[in-house]
Amino acid sequence: MTLLTFRFAPSPNGELHLGHAYSALLNQKLAKANDGRLLLRIEDIDTTRCTPQFEAGVLADLEWLGLDWEEPVRRQSGHFAEYGTVLDRLMSEELVYPAFMSRGEIRAFITDSEKRGRDWPRDPDGVPLYPPADKALPVRERKRRIAENAPFAWRLDVGAALARVGRDLAWAEFTDEALSATRAVAARPQDWGDVIVARRDIPTSYHLAVVMDDALQGVSHVVRGQDLFSATSVQRLLQELLGLPQPTYFHHRLILGPDGRKLSKSLGDTGLAKLRDAGASPDDIRRMVGL
Ligand code: GLU
Repeated sequence: MTLLTFRFAPSPNGELHLGHAYSALLNQKLAKANDGRLLLRIEDIDTTRCTPQFEAGVLADLEWLGLDWEEPVRRQSGHFAEYGTVLDRLMSEELVYPAFMSRGEIRAFITDSEKRGRDWPRDPDGVPLYPPADKALPVRERKRRIAENAPFAWRLDVGAALARVGRDLAWAEFTDEALSATRAVAARPQDWGDVIVARRDIPTSYHLAVVMDDALQGVSHVVRGQDLFSATSVQRLLQELLGLPQPTYFHHRLILGPDGRKLSKSLGDTGLAKLRDAGASPDDIRRMVGL
């Protein structure tokens, strides 16, 4: 039997809270129960929001919790060249295009379209889909704007990508925390429209880096929060386009704050460092998250 591989993949753009603790400890528990591997991946492609201080805090919190991961830890910021190679491939296959519209321009386009009585579609996070204009720009015009240093992002042409794949996609989702059974979930990448796969200055995005790294690191089981359930659709499409293996997924329950809302990284009473300073032990944290 091949070794099962789990991972916890925090972004060091803030301090860890109870939700992260649950995710990390659940991955650890499942890796142990299955004699599998546990990897830690630092998802720090956003070089403005991720800082060495936050990363040091993340590592200290995880050590304190008793998480034990394999070394070396993969830091995404050290692998931009690898992501760039794959981005080049998507460019040469004409599956991505440079998207120049600013947030303000997108807003104006949508307001205008809604004024004419058309409800503009939104993605599962409620963000309006990217308007189609840039996809139709002639190559000469794209080159001119890039040469003029216009800001842009590389977006996936989801229509072209789906046509390339040529069939419906699905993924296997575990039905419970013990990973006892799976069900098939139909992927709906079109619900996200033309997602960003890379920035002008950073040759990747969350989606691209995550699918490449899960494949490179041999991750067989992606166990992460329910908030990323819908994002899996985009990731399945990228895996298929890039010929990458598909892991099995479990999107676990979220730990909610006293107000019933998802926890945020802005420090509240649920920050791990704060709880530790207030005298909580790692066992207390386990109890608080129901493990
Ligand atoms: N880095 C992401 C986060 O902190 C998690 C990515 C994933 O587990 O796929 O939200």
